[in-house]
Amino acid sequence: MRRDIILKLTGFIILNFNCIMAQSQVVSLDKEFFEEIKSIRKVLHNSPEYSHKEENTAKLLLEYLSVTNPDYLFKDIGGHGVVAGYKGREGGPSVMFRCEMDAIKSERGFEHLCGHDGHMAILIGLSRVVSQNRDFDGTVWLLFQPAEEVGEGAALMASDLEKLGVKFDFSFALHNNPKYPLNTIVLHSGVYAAGSVGMEIRFRGAPSHAAYPEKAISPYKAITETVAYMNGLNVDKGTFSDFILGTVVNITIGEINYGVTPGEGYLRMTLRSFADNDLDKLCSMMEEFAREKGDEHNLKTEFAYFDRFPATVNDERANLLVEKAVKKHNLDIQYAKEPTRGSDDFCFFAFNSLSSFFDIGNGLDGEDIHQSGYRFSDEILETAIKIYTTMIYTVKIK
Ligand SMILES: [Zn+2]
Ligand SMILES: [Zn+2]
Repeated sequence: MRRDIILKLTGFIILNFNCIMAQSQVVSLDKEFFEEIKSIRKVLHNSPEYSHKEENTAKLLLEYLSVTNPDYLFKDIGGHGVVAGYKGREGGPSVMFRCEMDAIKSERGFEHLCGHDGHMAILIGLSRVVSQNRDFDGTVWLLFQPAEEVGEGAALMASDLEKLGVKFDFSFALHNNPKYPLNTIVLHSGVYAAGSVGMEIRFRGAPSHAAYPEKAISPYKAITETVAYMNGLNVDKGTFSDFILGTVVNITIGEINYGVTPGEGYLRMTLRSFADNDLDKLCSMMEEFAREKGDEHNLKTEFAYFDRFPATVNDERANLLVEKAVKKHNLDIQYAKEPTRGSDDFCFFAFNSLSSFFDIGNGLDGEDIHQSGYRFSDEILETAIKIYTTMIYTVKIK
C-alpha cells in the first residue's frame, strides 16, 4: 500500500492513504468482534485524561485507527482531537459521527464517569467496519473530540476542520443515558439541548465609609432588583416562545472590609433557552432592565458575555435515518418529552449540517453520569455499532 503524505500545515499532520478500494473482506459483527471492542473500551477506560490533556488517549486512538487504512487521518485537531475519513465506493454525502475523548475530575482523580470511553470504542468498532466494507456512498468521518466536558473542543475542532476544508452534510452523535432502560433509544425531535450564555453585569458607583452609607453609590439595590426581575421572567409564561431559565451563579459586592460601603458589584448569571431567538430576547431584556436600574441608582452599567452555546437542534431528516435503523433492530424507542436543559457543544457541528443527537439507555440500576458509582454498560457498544452500520449500509444516509 502506498502512502502519500500530501500536506503539512502548522499544527497538523495530514496523511492521505491511497486505499485499495476493492477489498472485499467484510468484518462480521460477531461475538468475537464485540469482545474485542469491549477490551478496547477497557484500555481507553484505564487511560482517563482531563479536558485539553487527552494526549495518551489520542495516541491510543491513532494506533487503533492507523491500521484501518483510513483515506484521511488527522491529529491535533482542536487540541488533541483525531479525525479519520473513509471513502465509499461512490461519491455522495460527507457523513460524520462524533464521540468525546475526555474524562472528568472526581474525588479519586480523573475517571471516565461520562462513558466517553464507551463512545470512543463505538467509533473504533465502526472504523473497522467502514474500512473493510466500502459499499457506501460518500465519505464517513469519525470524529474523536477533546474537551467536551468544558464545552470547548467542538468549536476548536470545527475551526481547524474548516481550515482543512473538511465539511459535513450529516452529523450524528449519541450519549449513553442512565435515566433510561438499557438499550432504549431516546430520540429528540427538534431541540436536543438548550442554548446558553454566561452574562456578567457590572455596576460601578462610589464607595464610602461604612459609617456614612448615604454618601456611597452602592450597587446592591440594582443587583437585588435585577435578580428579582430575572426570577419573574423565569416564571412568566407569556413573553417567550419556549422554555427559558436564568440562574444566578455569582454575586460579588464590595470587599470583606467592615469599614467600607461598597461602590462596585457584579451579578453573574447563566441564561438558557430552547430557542436561540428567546435567548437573544432574554439577554436584551436583562440588559435593558439592568441599565434602567443602573441609571436610577446613578451607577455605570457594563455587560460581558461568556461561553455562548447555540441550542443543539436535530434535523428531522437526520432523525428519521436513526429511527429507521433503530426499528430494523427492533429496539425500544422513546421520544423525549423535552430537550436537555444543559447545553452541548455538538451544536458547533450541528448547525452547519443535518444532524441528529440521540441517547441510548444505560440501564436504570446504576448511578447517573458524573456520579462516583457510574458505570458504562458494555451492551451499548453492540447496539450503537449496529445502529450506525445499519444507517450506513441498509438505510443509506442521503
Ligand atoms: Zn459528562
Ligand atoms: Zn458525556
